[in-house]
Amino acid sequence: MDQVMTVRGPVDASTLGFGLPHEHLRIDLISVFPAAMLAFDFQLIDEELQTDEVRLFRDAVQAAGWPGSPWIVDVTTDARMGRDPLFLRRVSESLDLPVVMGCGRYREPWYEPGFAERSTRGLAELLTAEIEQGVDGTGIRPGIIGELGADRDFVSPAEERTLRAAAIAHARTGLPITLHARFGQVGIAQLDILEDAGVRPERIIVGHTDTDPDLDYHEAIARRGAWVQYDCIRGRVPLVPERRVRYLLEARRRGFLDRVLLSHDVCALSMLRAYGGTGYDYLPRDFMGMLRERGLTDEELRGLVIEQPRRAIIPAV
Ligand SMILES: [Zn+2]
Repeated sequence: MDQVMTVRGPVDASTLGFGLPHEHLRIDLISVFPAAMLAFDFQLIDEELQTDEVRLFRDAVQAAGWPGSPWIVDVTTDARMGRDPLFLRRVSESLDLPVVMGCGRYREPWYEPGFAERSTRGLAELLTAEIEQGVDGTGIRPGIIGELGADRDFVSPAEERTLRAAAIAHARTGLPITLHARFGQVGIAQLDILEDAGVRPERIIVGHTDTDPDLDYHEAIARRGAWVQYDCIRGRVPLVPERRVRYLLEARRRGFLDRVLLSHDVCALSMLRAYGGTGYDYLPRDFMGMLRERGLTDEELRGLVIEQPRRAIIPAV
């Protein structure tokens, strides 16, 4: 029986229903790197507000009649990015909703002082210990490695070491690896490094693929066998979801719809329903209906939001 590690311990994968594979229930990009505030309001730390927002997702999934337990992957990697395992566990408990926690390091501007003095092996040891024994002082164990980022449209030497350390930890623990590939087509460079380090592409999720409009790039990731993640699906600007619908229709035409994952990457206050955004519930509330209207079958929709995220998260080397 396949088990998935959540912040409340292992669960049987077959119980997992509608999953969001790339979200942030708690994140704080501002405390470590204030320049991030210039671009956005990247700080979600209000537990009551976050619980209310996630409840909207749970309720929307249940109202739409999707089978299984709705669940969320929080890809905030560490304390410097705003991760708080106990916060995640309390939200998960109060909503009875499985939450899978991330680990690793985000992007170079968020790396800790002293990173440069650690060996790649040393970084891998730290990561493996956290995955096997839980985050210090909490015992809460990650269920995915990442999101591991490239800050720009290339992988910096420090970011490459993070990827290679993750590959070692992956080989020991089987946790899948999820990437932040936000600029240009840097996902290919990240895949090259991870594959060179022995990770099978089937175990790698290339995040933010939908920020690049080149379908040949999306297809190249899928043909290698990795997951193509359209995780910036938000409805406030109508062009954004409309463009994602087109990507999905094209993915189907090209034959790689079964390698695609969907999520919102909620990471800023303005993305929350309470602040006028479309929140964690946009997919079950609106977007899936748009896809159905455009001709995707129930089986394809089930694949996108239930079977594919479940397959992506189950540990295996
Ligand atoms: Zn990201």
